[in-house]
Amino acid sequence: MTTTWDVIVVGAGTAGMPTATFAALRGARVLLIEQAERVGGTLWYSGGQMSAADTRLQRSRGIEDSAAEHFRDIMRITRQTSEPVLLELFTDHAGAAFDWLMDNGFDVAAECPACLDVHEPYRTRRSVWGNEGGLSVMKALKRALDREIARGAVTLKLSSELTGFLRAPNGAVIGVQVRDRRTGVSAEHRGENVVLTTGGYVANRELYERYSPGTPYGVASNPEAKGTGFALAAALGARVKGGEMALPSYGCVLEDPKDRSSQRFIGGPHDALSAYIWLETSPQRRRPWEIHVNLRGERFVREDIPSVDHRECALRDQPDWRFFILFDEGIRQNAPKITTRWSEAALKGAFGTHPSFLVDDSLNGLARQMGVDEAALSRTVAEYNAAVASGLDAKFGREFLPRAIAKPPFYAVQCFGLQVMSPAGLDVDADLRVLDQAGKPIGSLYAAGEVLGHWRIAGDAYAPGTSVTPAITFGKMLGERLLSWSNARAAAE
Ligand SMILES: Cc1cc2nc3c(=O)[nH]c(=O)nc-3n(C[C@H](O)[C@H](O)[C@H](O)COP(=O)(O)OP(=O)(O)OC[C@H]3O[C@@H](n4cnc5c(N)ncnc54)[C@H](O)[C@@H]3O)c2cc1C
Repeated sequence: MTTTWDVIVVGAGTAGMPTATFAALRGARVLLIEQAERVGGTLWYSGGQMSAADTRLQRSRGIEDSAAEHFRDIMRITRQTSEPVLLELFTDHAGAAFDWLMDNGFDVAAECPACLDVHEPYRTRRSVWGNEGGLSVMKALKRALDREIARGAVTLKLSSELTGFLRAPNGAVIGVQVRDRRTGVSAEHRGENVVLTTGGYVANRELYERYSPGTPYGVASNPEAKGTGFALAAALGARVKGGEMALPSYGCVLEDPKDRSSQRFIGGPHDALSAYIWLETSPQRRRPWEIHVNLRGERFVREDIPSVDHRECALRDQPDWRFFILFDEGIRQNAPKITTRWSEAALKGAFGTHPSFLVDDSLNGLARQMGVDEAALSRTVAEYNAAVASGLDAKFGREFLPRAIAKPPFYAVQCFGLQVMSPAGLDVDADLRVLDQAGKPIGSLYAAGEVLGHWRIAGDAYAPGTSVTPAITFGKMLGERLLSWSNARAAAE
């Protein structure tokens, strides 16, 4: 006998766990399929920073906030590039989703809610994160999911990869084909509703280049973010939007600068990403003593501008999204350290031994190592030194001009702008139904999370907490509403 599930959720990550949990709480029989050996998806790697308005936590700290203000603030940060219908759906429901996470033991950091400045900050204290970053979020979501698994309302199948959809003659999705990664055996599962929560595709270079052509490829991501669910839905005829909304994050050093698809970076907190380092480029935390130079050997941004978005947009216009943080021995000896993650000795030891940390006794020698034009670099440094002497940076308006770059040896750290999220995603309506090329819903197929594309909520900017929180919020919403929607559909047919 073939079982027909009320809801099949594909992808047990940030969005999939709450979708399955809430569908089960509403009485559905749920099958949750996950290709990895564990649940949690990108939360094993993510910073897990979230944002939600009018939460109990905010009220307990005397912070006045509203969903409408959250909406306006995100639109301001994203320069009106977010998709307003979904953004409003998110901001209206994010507070309840975050309160629910707290009910499930989310261990929020003591300083939250805060005005996070790693990305363009909100106008009010609305950013929240856990003591263990993404892992804190994962543990709270898993706690709730495990209860539903324990009472038999959710059946979880790990190592099970979606390989195709079952379709009715009218085109509606009526189930999934799945391959067991351990045994290679394939199976079919039928469902009244299928929810795609398979996450992003940034670990898939081919997909990235197809949807964001001409954009340099460089990612820090979950290695499982291969985008198979996304690609299968696109092959089914789902409409894809947002590939042009790619934006680099600012100031990451790669372990191997030749391998930008690698998941290995220098010095970070979790799992496979345990080797990345973001140098401190936020002037709010450390004013820059250095200059930032592109592959043409020129400065391209006011290094001490408080706006992160301004720096990220400036980097987007640079060749290969690549730049160097350049300084001299005088700065090395006098400036605060450019990263707090490494000791002074470790940082000094990297120069000349690591391919991204360059040192030379002459500026021309450094230019050759950087692969930039010697004359251009000399001109850039001379112009900057003149600005230091006069106290006026006419070109970029930089205000902090502590000292000239003149004392050998000279140093340069090579940085890249990386993507951590997929720009493009499946188009959906306000009920999160996946739409076809003509804008019509593909029957019984829903989606939530990064498979919708980062741009939908965050436009072409990094507004704080606009991927993890929407994934949870939309997952919760789908789980709560799916049964009533499909019952209404059945009644209408
Ligand atoms: C380094 C890093 C830092 C980040 N920091 C932040 C942050 O601070 N704040 C923020 O808001 N966002 C952040 N993000 C982004 C955010 O974490 C993700 O966008 C979000 O977690 C994605 O949630 P999701 O549910 O869509 O996908 P995931 O959590 O990745 O879940 C998708 C799941 O689907 C599974 N899957 C995929 N394909 C298949 C298939 N064919 N069959 C079966 N299963 C499949 C995957 O294995 C995975 O478990 C960060 C991302 C990275 C990489």
